[in-house]
Amino acid sequence: MEIRVPGIIRAALDFAFPQICPGCGEYLDSKDILCERCVRSFSFLNGPICFNCRGLLKASTATPCCGKDTLPLILYAEYRTSMQESIVSLKFRGVKKLIPYFANSIANKWGETIKGFKADRLVPVPLHTSREFARGYNQSEVLADHIGEALAIDVNHEIIIRSRKRRVQSKLPMSKRKANVRGAFSIEEIPETVKRVIIVDDVITSGATVTEVKRTLTSAGLTVVGIIAVAYAGSDI
Ligand SMILES: [Zn+2]
Ligand SMILES: [Zn+2]
Repeated sequence: MEIRVPGIIRAALDFAFPQICPGCGEYLDSKDILCERCVRSFSFLNGPICFNCRGLLKASTATPCCGKDTLPLILYAEYRTSMQESIVSLKFRGVKKLIPYFANSIANKWGETIKGFKADRLVPVPLHTSREFARGYNQSEVLADHIGEALAIDVNHEIIIRSRKRRVQSKLPMSKRKANVRGAFSIEEIPETVKRVIIVDDVITSGATVTEVKRTLTSAGLTVVGIIAVAYAGSDI
């Protein structure tokens, strides 16, 4: 239910608690999530992109483009400047309203492609429970919930869990990230009807975390048919 706030009260609230753009820190009109300048500064990515070679895939299906079995990667924008600030805001500063904004943007732009993957479930990358407790939410779960709602695809939070707490990937050099997440996840419960899944994450940097999630899901007999992330921090696109 949406609560209607009379204009004068709204104006008083805005005066008392001015809205700040999570991308740049400038004052915002209360109805906006991000300022126009930040949205214009995003480097949107084309796709789908091949998970192996990070080249553009010609078809929306998993067509081999580099001679290997590939996986289509749907990425919204590059992880830099105001996009990087926005992700830090939604992850560490509790700016949760950015999540439906990004989820709807992804669903609007990539909806038909994502539906074309014919997944039974969206599977968010899990956080360790202690980290989720400290943060109050798992941003990848909330993101998956909103994308799933927009595209009428079911979401499952119980298939995979983070069984071991590891060091935060972003604080490690790229060379250490793969070893850090090895064995970090385990399978909890796979409903019988679920065969094809899409992994949902907030940011992809080295790709080590989603690779390990994919390995864990695949070894349990599931087929990973795609990966969705808001931001991509790789240097090779
Ligand atoms: Zn801004
Ligand atoms: Zn490729």
